[in-house]
Amino acid sequence: MKTAELFEHKTVFSLEVFPPKPDTDESVIYDTLDELSDISPDFISVTYGAGGGHSGCKTIQIASDIKERYGVESVAHLPCIDLTKEQAAEILDSLQAHGIENVLALRGDRREDTAAEGDFRHASDLITFIKERYDFNVLAACYPEIHPESTSAVDDLKWLRHKVDCGADHLITQLFLDNKYFLDFHEKARIAGIDIPIEAGIMPVTNKRQIERMVKLCGVQLPKKFVRVLERYEHNDTALRDAGIAYAIDQITELIAEGVDGIHLYTMNYPYVAKKIFAAVESLISVNSCTAAL
Ligand code: FAD
Repeated sequence: MKTAELFEHKTVFSLEVFPPKPDTDESVIYDTLDELSDISPDFISVTYGAGGGHSGCKTIQIASDIKERYGVESVAHLPCIDLTKEQAAEILDSLQAHGIENVLALRGDRREDTAAEGDFRHASDLITFIKERYDFNVLAACYPEIHPESTSAVDDLKWLRHKVDCGADHLITQLFLDNKYFLDFHEKARIAGIDIPIEAGIMPVTNKRQIERMVKLCGVQLPKKFVRVLERYEHNDTALRDAGIAYAIDQITELIAEGVDGIHLYTMNYPYVAKKIFAAVESLISVNSCTAAL
């Protein structure tokens, strides 16, 4: 099923996982999926490491298994920064052959040390490439606090609108810890004529190193409320994990009350956390499906 169709009837609740890192036990991802599939998410997306290597094959296999073994819809991420057109076509052919219908078309992060070697400069180039040749439902990324390379919110929104004009069917946001950024971005996107579903990307923060990395990589602002939680519980792993779960539930509760199209949970392959969050918001999702507001 194409993910864009899911939004017609409900508030979507989806999950993101990443393939096992090299040198780790490959079967661990299936233990994770065994647990995550218990909550019957609307779809599970699988990340793809830019820069080549074997991570792409793993993404395709895992996305295919999510559909075939678990009966859950899947999305394969595809960063294009290092791909030639021939390589992109090879991967897309393989996705198609595996019965995968949804692709999250991404540029991938630029590296400081090496120049990109691919034929695509922006995610929009990949979206156009896909839409001209295939029948995939295409997802794209967006940034409530603007992409770190963007010089202004207007510029960021202009290029986002361009991705939609190239054929993106569904958007997922970068993580954010303050809902005001999402709500403000959502309103501006609608004013800019972006009328496809926008899912809010929520990352439950369960350790301090994880959030420090995200702040550095994505430029996410830490609201005072969040900093106080971090300072109070940073030396107690269990308390910080539980506070991170509570914080994410609080964010999701407000977003659902505002009528968000969907919640995309960055699980970090940590099913305990995803299951706790889902248990807390499951009933809110079904109520909201009758009373969408945003
Ligand atoms: P783009 O849409 O190309 O945007 C990048 C920058 O260029 C922005 O500043 C934008 O405003 C600008 N821009 C866009 N189009 C144009 C244009 N035509 N002309 C001029 N400027 C333009 N990375 C991975 O490697 N693997 C993953 O699996 C992965 N999954 C992700 C999932 C989500 C939900 C998100 C939000 C991000 C993910 N990323 C992943 C990270 C992503 O690759 C980076 O954020 C990357 O820096 C930008 O990707 P993009 O697709 O948004 O790029």
